[in-house]
Amino acid sequence: MIPTLDTASPADTSASSDAGLGISAARHRSAELETTIRQHPERFRVLTGDRPTGRLHLGHYFGTLHNRVRLQNLGVELLVVIADYQVLTDRDVADRLPEHVEELVLDYLAVGIDPGRATIFTHSAIPALNQLLLPFLSLISVAELGRNPTVKDEIAQSAQASVSGLMFTYPAHQAADILFCKANLVPVGQDQLPHLEATRTIARRFNNRYANGGVPVFPEPDALLSAAPLLLGTDGTKMSKSRGNAIALAATADETARLIRGAKTDAIRHITYEPATRPEIASLLLLTALCLDRDPRAVAEDIGPRGAATLKAVATEAVNEHLKPIRARRALYAKDRHRVHEILQAGNGHATALADSTLREVRIAMNSLL
Ligand code: ATP
Ligand code: MG
Repeated sequence: MIPTLDTASPADTSASSDAGLGISAARHRSAELETTIRQHPERFRVLTGDRPTGRLHLGHYFGTLHNRVRLQNLGVELLVVIADYQVLTDRDVADRLPEHVEELVLDYLAVGIDPGRATIFTHSAIPALNQLLLPFLSLISVAELGRNPTVKDEIAQSAQASVSGLMFTYPAHQAADILFCKANLVPVGQDQLPHLEATRTIARRFNNRYANGGVPVFPEPDALLSAAPLLLGTDGTKMSKSRGNAIALAATADETARLIRGAKTDAIRHITYEPATRPEIASLLLLTALCLDRDPRAVAEDIGPRGAATLKAVATEAVNEHLKPIRARRALYAKDRHRVHEILQAGNGHATALADSTLREVRIAMNSLL
């Protein structure tokens, strides 16, 4: 079993420039939440998701996907948004969108998200969700949006010539994605913490301004971090679909070996687990440890003087073994694209009903429903 934050050894790769807002507070809170979730899974509704910008990778898997499946299997209600409008945040065109959406659904099914229990939907198909954006935008200032570290980072990483209104207002869109179904738990990677803080702020301000008789309309959702809130890619920065540094879940065993062989390490031969000073080595050790259900320090001790080449060989084998059943399931599901569309249709139907009901409540609270 892959460790959750409370049982894992420190997985702090915060030497990266992606180091988020309040990471240690978020880690602490996640450990507390784990206890409550185990006792009362019925108290939680999870909303999380991904942009259809390419195949999901190991960063997604250990950062959030594994937590989604774990929560689902604990009996927590799970909704997964495919954030298709958000592709345009830092891309000029929504290139190969239908294909990317299908690929995402296949990745979800392969890792164990069960459409019989979970809701998988595309947010562009849910008009009432998108209507929440207007009141939400009124609750956050331009200065706050400009200060958001994730927005700043995504602007820096973007290939676009200028910052679009969509990119700048991303935190408000994400608030609509989360709050339309009144989710109170969001399993995300570390890079998303500032966005989640913005969602909490918007929920709080909406309640303060509009809640009739003090009954809040929205919960203030919590982030749930995993044992790997920031897995690094082969170039030593956050593993991302868009940075060309990712190992896709659907990669072949050979591709995986080639990518890990080319991963950035450092000049020190002896392998030690020191996330703050040796982030690339630490991330490879953590990845290996998560696949083997071991402590990254113990993996480091085993390898010790045998150096980075041995670490990479061990990591490759661990990853390929761990992903073998996932890859096999994915290949099976890929043969039935019709089913993928049925899953999305059902998910969009359920999400529409939830969004309609929330929008109605919002409009009543705002006195706009005559
Ligand atoms: P893009 O490059 O298009 O932004 P991405 O790889 O960053 O893609 P997203 O769709 O933006 O992926 O992120 C989806 C979810 O996966 C978020 O919760 C994010 O925090 C998490 N995630 C993404 N990359 C990592 C990573 N390297 N480590 C841990 N979690 C991650
Ligand atoms: Mg991203």
